[in-house]
Amino acid sequence: MSKRVCCTHCQGTIEIASRAMSVFCPLCNKRLVVEDIRVQRYYAVRELATCGDVLVSARGHLVAAVKAGNLTVNGRLQGNVAVGGCVRLGKQAAVLGDIRAPRIRVEDGATLRGFVRIEGGAAEPVPGTEPEPPADPQRPAAPRSSRSSRSQRDAQTPSTRARKRVSEP
Ligand SMILES: [Zn+2]
Repeated sequence: MSKRVCCTHCQGTIEIASRAMSVFCPLCNKRLVVEDIRVQRYYAVRELATCGDVLVSARGHLVAAVKAGNLTVNGRLQGNVAVGGCVRLGKQAAVLGDIRAPRIRVEDGATLRGFVRIEGGAAEPVPGTEPEPPADPQRPAAPRSSRSSRSQRDAQTPSTRARKRVSEP
């Protein structure tokens, strides 16, 4: 069993054993933490980096720059965030810092003070999807496949789904 994660150092997508707790990135040769981290109290550190998920629970107060596969905040977070997957801010979340992630879900009541950049999702292969077919030099002008393989991921909001129509000539 293996899974794909995003290296917190070089942002490359690598494949690791799903039970591994710590691996070396084959792309940049740096050590990676892949376990999930749960913050349930005050915790301050310069950087909290894992390819797994970071959860700040309702009583948690994390002061750190965060690099993670996914991030869920139900408590407080001070620090800049770079996430390869999805950031979720619960209704009691209070975040002070900049966030960069392909997907962000903010519940009603959450507070966020900082810049938000939603990017990095479309260009990178998403874990769980099949690899892209080789590029066709004579590809048609309008893409016909809607890449519905990502539809199982419910993180998409309706506004991010652009409707495309392929009109017949
Ligand atoms: Zn790397």
